[in-house]
Amino acid sequence: MHKEDMPLIFEVSSPGRIGYSLPEMDVPEIDIAELLPEGYLREEKAELPEVSELDIMRHYTALSKRNHGVDSGFYPLGSCTMKYNPKINENVARFNGFAHIHPLQDESSVQGALELMYDLQQHLIEITGMDEVTLQPAAGAHGEWTGLMMIRAFHEANGDSGRTKVIVPDSAHGTNPASATVAGFDTITVKSNAQGLVDLDDLRRVVGSDTAALMLTNPNTLGLFEENIVEMAEIVHGAGGKLYYDGANLNAVLSKARPGDMGFDVVHLNLHKTFTGPHGGGGPGSGPVGVKNDLIPFLPKPIVTKRGESYIFDYDRPQSIGRVKPFYGNFGINVRAYTYIRSMGPDGLKAVTENAVLNANYMMRRLAEYYDLPFDKHCKHEFVLSGKRQKKLGVRTLDIAKRLLDFGYHPPTIYFPLNVEECIMVEPTETESKETLDEFIDAMIQIAKEAEENPEIVQEAPHTTVIGRVDEATAARKPILRYQKA
Ligand SMILES: *Cc1c(COP(=O)(O)O)cnc(C)c1O
Repeated sequence: MHKEDMPLIFEVSSPGRIGYSLPEMDVPEIDIAELLPEGYLREEKAELPEVSELDIMRHYTALSKRNHGVDSGFYPLGSCTMKYNPKINENVARFNGFAHIHPLQDESSVQGALELMYDLQQHLIEITGMDEVTLQPAAGAHGEWTGLMMIRAFHEANGDSGRTKVIVPDSAHGTNPASATVAGFDTITVKSNAQGLVDLDDLRRVVGSDTAALMLTNPNTLGLFEENIVEMAEIVHGAGGKLYYDGANLNAVLSKARPGDMGFDVVHLNLHKTFTGPHGGGGPGSGPVGVKNDLIPFLPKPIVTKRGESYIFDYDRPQSIGRVKPFYGNFGINVRAYTYIRSMGPDGLKAVTENAVLNANYMMRRLAEYYDLPFDKHCKHEFVLSGKRQKKLGVRTLDIAKRLLDFGYHPPTIYFPLNVEECIMVEPTETESKETLDEFIDAMIQIAKEAEENPEIVQEAPHTTVIGRVDEATAARKPILRYQKA
């Protein structure tokens, strides 16, 4: 037992204590051993904590107070929009008619839910400039995989089976090459130039008759807009490849520019980032995928469509890649995103982008005096700094991130993208006030000064958290997965 620490739920456990009561069984009991194939059955009873409802309530409340979330403090994570989740979204998602319907109900009895899904698809089509959208994928990476499987099916349907390669920039989000690999492609990297944009000559070099697609984020993960996107689209399309847009973070282009107009054929969105679904802890998320006309036949089925005055699930899609998620996606997250889009309206969504970009540029300019700015030009919704100057003083970017914990902030993304030395990547989002931005900037300035005057305080941070600095590699590779009885 960790003395200064709170006990694990297993340590609170007392044999025979329970925190639930179930009604008496009124259906025939089923022997699970008859349903499961041999080998899948547990041989020993699972060792689960036995606690009362109050014990478990206090345990999780105490844990939540040690956690850091958007509702408790500033969370400027780069390439992973962490913005405020308006509580009206929660109210609407809890409406009985949304929360208490069953996915096996007859279509005629859930017309409202289907209408919401249909309408959300229409909004996302309008926002992305695509021709059709599926709401099935459960998150961003799942959307990427779904999109790539459609691209694969498209090429195969054209008898074009030699397209085995997906091109990703060296600044790409890690899920991009991972999704390409899971979808059965080889990934090849295209280099960035000194301005932080995709190097067109290198793109021409790697594109060819084996190119299935180019996967791109625009603005890219450095927060910079790929100004040559139209030319890049011509290069890839000219070779018969498709353009995939990673739209996880749409904060810089919402209501301003559309992937469809830039020449992209497929786009996924993270409704749990840009569209204010709660985000983190592994979900649930929602990663809808939009496609241009020539890819519509390959969308996962069913698709929600309107026939006459009724909304239906359309299963009659012979070229579909099939279902990618049980039922119809994470409906509750889709309700939240729909509520957000409707409550903001077109002017509200435009203001999101303008304020997100303004906030990022304001912070970048104020911090540029104290940290190195690898790309000295206007950014979009996020920006990168380099801790090179501090590294010369013996303070690494990791130390700066740890020190921020002492000020009550969740640190920004660090050491990503890989093409910036000692990278610090900040995305403030539009939902933060100028006062919050200023307080964070002041903390960053103080840390820069500490690095010069008193580096140990940064190198040994954090000082104020329950758990001090852990060995990150060990923590990631050898997590303590369950309580070991002494
Ligand atoms: C978050 C993110 C993803 C992955 O989304 P998940 O919902 O976490 O699977 C992909 N690309 C970019 C650029 C992202 O920021």
